[in-house]
Amino acid sequence: MPEADTDVLIVGAAPTGLTLARELQLAGVRTIVLERLPEPRVIPKAGGLGGQTLEMLRHRGLLERFEAASGKPPHAAIPLRRLARRLTRLADNPMQAPLLPQPRMESLLEDLARELGAEIRREHELVGLSQDQAAVTTDVRGPAGPYRITARYLVGCDGAHSRVRAMAGIAFPGTTHPEVNRLGSFAMPDSVTLLDDGNYEIAGLGRAPFGYTQTDRGVFAISSYTPTDLGLYTSEEEADPNEYDDEPLTVPEFEESIQRVLGVRIPLREPTRMTRFTFHARHVERYREGRILVAGDAAHLFPSGGVAVNAGMLDAVNLAWKLAAEIGGWAPDRLLDTYHDERHFAGTRTLLHTQAQVARRPGLDSADDALREVVSELLLDEPARHRIGAMIAGADIRYPMPGFGPNALAGTFATAGLAADFLHAGRPVLLDLADRADLRDVARDWADRVELHIVAVDDRPADAVLIRPDGYIARAATVDEPYDTATTGLRKSLTHWFGAAPPVLSRS
Ligand SMILES: Cc1cc2nc3c(=O)[nH]c(=O)nc-3n(C[C@H](O)[C@H](O)[C@H](O)COP(=O)(O)OP(=O)(O)OC[C@H]3O[C@@H](n4cnc5c(N)ncnc54)[C@H](O)[C@@H]3O)c2cc1C
Repeated sequence: MPEADTDVLIVGAAPTGLTLARELQLAGVRTIVLERLPEPRVIPKAGGLGGQTLEMLRHRGLLERFEAASGKPPHAAIPLRRLARRLTRLADNPMQAPLLPQPRMESLLEDLARELGAEIRREHELVGLSQDQAAVTTDVRGPAGPYRITARYLVGCDGAHSRVRAMAGIAFPGTTHPEVNRLGSFAMPDSVTLLDDGNYEIAGLGRAPFGYTQTDRGVFAISSYTPTDLGLYTSEEEADPNEYDDEPLTVPEFEESIQRVLGVRIPLREPTRMTRFTFHARHVERYREGRILVAGDAAHLFPSGGVAVNAGMLDAVNLAWKLAAEIGGWAPDRLLDTYHDERHFAGTRTLLHTQAQVARRPGLDSADDALREVVSELLLDEPARHRIGAMIAGADIRYPMPGFGPNALAGTFATAGLAADFLHAGRPVLLDLADRADLRDVARDWADRVELHIVAVDDRPADAVLIRPDGYIARAATVDEPYDTATTGLRKSLTHWFGAAPPVLSRS
């Protein structure tokens, strides 16, 4: 069989693809990233990183790099609009995020991937692909002309309009909402006056209330944090909501939209922030087709903001170690398929709450307004706030871990207090929390793949925890678990996730 040019070819150098590239390099996998653009796009998208990704970065010892790049104190970057206020009351707000505009976030992710040796080819566009039992063959258009590259696996991290997804024949069912939304912050225009009662006077229109107004043509919203700034928003149905993809919003386009929705032109000053977005709720039917996989926006589109980067980066971390196991030749049966099982489940949860948020868009109808009030009231209760906060952060996911004895921690994400110091290298680890020589003996058979650490903790939650490279607990030996079940369960879990123990090292 001819050798492939690379182990893994990633299409798309944005949050998902760059995270995947670093994770693969960390696991010692040869990786090439193709990106059609010469540099990260400067259009404003995500304004920061939030959710479980922050815990993941902490596990890798990278969180400080992101906080330093941000240079600002963490900010409660929570969607759910007005509910944000309720969630920020949580002592451990799960959506606390370093503010870092997406172009800067992508530059940092690119640096991190390159530091570990990932080859990122900018201005190289994937234009064709085919796969057989052994490899994926791709056609690429680069600055020096067209060429071919083969890879053992290919991952499409190529965004909403993924060609990889289309060429692999992966269906992407769901809904694209017909509204185009425009949002901007400006210095207070001459034609708008903030009134003492918090509402506004707009020249040519008269009084406009603070907040959302439904008009015949759509929704208009107006607000300010200070007397000198103004936030504006429009939402209107358009024939082709995809028409503007990747084109930055301009001030004249925003002025025209306001004129259509409100019936009056507001001459705007230079914006401090301006963005256009549409709502999609789409999810691939499967994350894997043979040797081709998809991740990030190529796999899912959520109809409200703040969570998509988190979801894509978590896809990448879930996938990388499984691909590394395949490439390393020690992957147990179906390991790679658990990428679909686990991340499709997580994507479905994210769709659930983001669709619920769209149903709660203010100003559209009184039933939505009533629902919003009911949910707001429920969120006065701390347990409800915790539950919704964890759901938004993607922290409530519990992956099914095959039995091998009951333990409450299995399938949950290892907390920073337990695991953060041990996952920098992205390898599986067994933390022995109770000086259990019997469990260490079992784990030594996998010494080439699984790190072993003896850790002293107060109030141990388990005697030992086996943690996958993505931070999820594969098995926890319960406190004082008897030798027989503890060792058998651990051996089965090790085999299930990390393959049979290598015969040379095996002592059984
Ligand atoms: C206005 C707006 C605001 C947003 N706000 C937020 C927010 O606040 N929080 C949040 O989490 N998310 C937000 N998002 C969503 C977030 O930007 C996306 O979820 C995120 O960019 C997805 O990352 P990705 O790496 O999966 O894909 P993308 O960022 O779409 O990157 C795909 C990459 O693939 C490249 N590519 C495509 N085709 C090819 C090809 N054939 N060959 C080579 N390269 C190719 C593209 O050039 C691109 O660089 C927002 C999006 C928009 C539009």
